[in-house]
Amino acid sequence: MSEEQPSSLYSDWKKIYPRYQTGFFRRLRWSLVALFLGIYYFLPALRWQRAEGLPDQAILFDLPARKFYFFDLVIWPQDIFLLAVILIAAALALFFMTALAGRIFCGYMCFQTVWTDLFLYVEKLFEGNRKQRMKLDSSEWTLHKLYVKVAKHLVWLLIGMATGGAFVFYFADAPTLFWQFLDGTAPIPAWFTLIFLTITTYIMAGIAREQVCIYMCPYARFQGAMFDEDSLIVAYHPELGEPRESNRRIRENKESKTGLCIDCNACVTVCPTGIDIRDGQQYECITCGSCIDACNTVKDRMHMKNELIRYTSMREIQGEKTRWFRPRVLIYGTLLAVFLGGIAVYLAFRPPLSLNVIKHRQPIYITQSDGSIQNNFTIRILNMHTQARTFSLEVDGLANSSLSVVAINKFDKQNRPLIKVASGAVMTFTIYLKQSQNSLKSGSQAITFKLIATDDPEIEDSYDSKFMRP
Ligand code: SF4
Ligand code: SF4
Repeated sequence: MSEEQPSSLYSDWKKIYPRYQTGFFRRLRWSLVALFLGIYYFLPALRWQRAEGLPDQAILFDLPARKFYFFDLVIWPQDIFLLAVILIAAALALFFMTALAGRIFCGYMCFQTVWTDLFLYVEKLFEGNRKQRMKLDSSEWTLHKLYVKVAKHLVWLLIGMATGGAFVFYFADAPTLFWQFLDGTAPIPAWFTLIFLTITTYIMAGIAREQVCIYMCPYARFQGAMFDEDSLIVAYHPELGEPRESNRRIRENKESKTGLCIDCNACVTVCPTGIDIRDGQQYECITCGSCIDACNTVKDRMHMKNELIRYTSMREIQGEKTRWFRPRVLIYGTLLAVFLGGIAVYLAFRPPLSLNVIKHRQPIYITQSDGSIQNNFTIRILNMHTQARTFSLEVDGLANSSLSVVAINKFDKQNRPLIKVASGAVMTFTIYLKQSQNSLKSGSQAITFKLIATDDPEIEDSYDSKFMRP
């Protein structure tokens, strides 16, 4: 009796050699690769004019100051909830895109696809197209093989380094950090991020490639929940293609009933995830359209009818019309519009000023020699505007009171202290609030501090507090 060998739970990894294929969808993807990488690599170099004392980098995550500069927009720590809202909006955008156009994000926009495309192109430049690469890998080591392999990996590492470098430039003044990298004085976290992203880019886009899409990416697993029979997919049309026939003589024989697929395998050899689209819809398909380009090229060459593989939907395959406007698309689209609209409205009407007041508790009040009572406070003013501003400070609700701000000697005509705050600055002051003896009542009194911009009375903020008395 033969003993059965336990089979492995894991399949062996087979290296995929995607053939480089030109065509409409390849050109479309190159355009997007150029656009996305152009934006990613060059945006930190873009300068932006701001008020004196503020950074002139168009996009900057200023972590020490906890501020995010996006052109004229500055996101402050108190806007941190926006991050959660933006993440929800991004998730909704992905749901919307998936319900409407399937895995179009994977095939055209995902950074894994974008960088893998670039790495594959570098591989093709050094090692040739699919057949040459396969031949090279199975050949003995020679000086030539060593040269092309080393050169390819070096270029991959350089791209990885540029990727990591561009990323850290978003967190510091890019030109300064660039020279710091060159003279070795860049901060340790910057070096660490650069090295980490160089290695991860090299591994993900150069070595792991389709493994990331098939095994690591969670989106590949849960996107099925957003799919329905109207979502866009790449599909082979068996009613046109089958029975496939590679033998030309049989195909050209009018008696034989062959389909349009000539079983040339072109669609399989170009596939970056190594699948055969003729086997039906598979979760590994990232809808990149390479197999469409491949099949169209073959058919064009043979002057045969095209569109054996095309972007379609399950409903269209069944002979019906795709329904673009359907409940799940409308719900995702509406929710996305609501979140984006909410972000836009908040940013447009966000008050450019914030006032915060803290009452000093020790002592709760001070009795002056003339019998008046004094309370001390600390105020914090945040000027979110892109220009320096002067504000007047006043107190409502306290009769016969006087207000003074430590280190502020300027007052307006109504004797209100005038405080100048630089653009994007947070300033803290100590204030003394005094009530004269002849208006004194006992107990606490509700008061309101009011801060008003001198150049625009509409810009104001207030803070409720208490004045304490014996
Ligand atoms: S099957 Fe076609 S569309 Fe899908 S990943 Fe492969 S080449 Fe791209
Ligand atoms: S490229 Fe087109 S013709 Fe060739 S095997 Fe694929 S589906 Fe058939």
